[in-house]
Amino acid sequence: MNSTSIKTLLSQRVIDLHESQTLEMAAKARELEAKGVDVIKLSLGEPDFNTPDHIKAAAKKAVDDNFSFYTPVPAILDLRKAIAEKLKRDNQLDMKAENIVVSTGAKQALINAILALVNPGDEVIVFAPYWVSYIPMIQLAEGKAVIVNGKIENGFKVSPEDLKKAITPKTKAVLYSSPSNPTGTVYTKEELKAFADIIAPHENIYIIADEIYEYITFEGNYWSIGAFENVKNRTVTVNGFSKGYAMTGWRVGYVAAPKEIADACNKIQGQFTSATCSIAQKAALAAVTGGTESIQVMKEAYLRRRDLVLELIKEIPAIKTYVPQGAFYLFPDVSAYFGKSDGETTIKTSNDLCMYLLNKAHVALVDGEGFGAAECIRISFAASDESLREAIRRIKEALDKLK
Ligand code: PMP
Ligand code: GLU
Repeated sequence: MNSTSIKTLLSQRVIDLHESQTLEMAAKARELEAKGVDVIKLSLGEPDFNTPDHIKAAAKKAVDDNFSFYTPVPAILDLRKAIAEKLKRDNQLDMKAENIVVSTGAKQALINAILALVNPGDEVIVFAPYWVSYIPMIQLAEGKAVIVNGKIENGFKVSPEDLKKAITPKTKAVLYSSPSNPTGTVYTKEELKAFADIIAPHENIYIIADEIYEYITFEGNYWSIGAFENVKNRTVTVNGFSKGYAMTGWRVGYVAAPKEIADACNKIQGQFTSATCSIAQKAALAAVTGGTESIQVMKEAYLRRRDLVLELIKEIPAIKTYVPQGAFYLFPDVSAYFGKSDGETTIKTSNDLCMYLLNKAHVALVDGEGFGAAECIRISFAASDESLREAIRRIKEALDKLK
């Protein structure tokens, strides 16, 4: 059978599914690199730090102790207990082990939660710019994403009034990340309270709060919406180890949710993947019980790099920026370049601009379309100061050629 006829056998579900744009761009950058090109990769959102030593030591011990068997689907009890304690300590969330389901990354935690809550035709309000995988996940659950936009002038914050307007009798959930990927926007306690007060009277609306960048916040105290009494029974908090602990490849994330929702996530996961890797669970246990020293060191580096990128990018006045308060991304508006050309390539979209910068400047970024903001591009500043300096120099040089 040739590949065209095999394609016709694929399910409509997968034909309609968009490939993850972040992973797509990372693959393109790797391809170019394999050809010997010196590419600066600011596309994939992952810490450039190694996993801290005490976490690695716990994993090595787990291997030597033959901790190599299936564990309970939602993870070993010690890990779930430790996560529940962390959520009490850091987030004022009243959780027990029975409320926690550990998954293969926050990505699986999110799809578990969406599949557990969303029926075909249900509406899920998503704050835009949003992380690329939210819309495809809602689509897989046959739900309908309803977008509420934040604007760059306001640091990309969604207003409570706009949230209120988006609610309909079909709304089942509200989904956002804070700090946000791709904008780094962080909602304050007061802002989250306004959202909670709007959602609370609607008894059928759940909140899915993606807090994976919790430990990478630069100002003020972090707040979790699930800590408000009026929505605590309807909030699914998603978090994980990838970002704060530099553990992207270990694949450990979790939901903390009311027991019925946690049980539903457990049931779904039990049919899809079972528990995440036993060794990675031991590593995560060492992370969550091991203090915050390494987190602080990384956070300080991200803050310094944020300021560095903001400073350097001032040299390119056509790029419109703002100040991200968390995560490690800048999501500037580059629409001033649309319609311009270097004589060879005409830039019509942010995707054209990203491809131009990849091919001409050898800097990999991600265009804003998959994040719901076609006028923007995402720059990850989880890279060395030296790489960031060189990347912005190359970007400026290439952009200066667009007339
Ligand atoms: N949520 C957001 C906002 C993310 O940026 C990511 C990945 N970078 C994830 C969830 C998934 O993280 P992971 O599966 O690596 O835990
Ligand atoms: N979430 C990270 C990013 O936004 C990693 C890639 C992915 O999982 O999509 O780049």
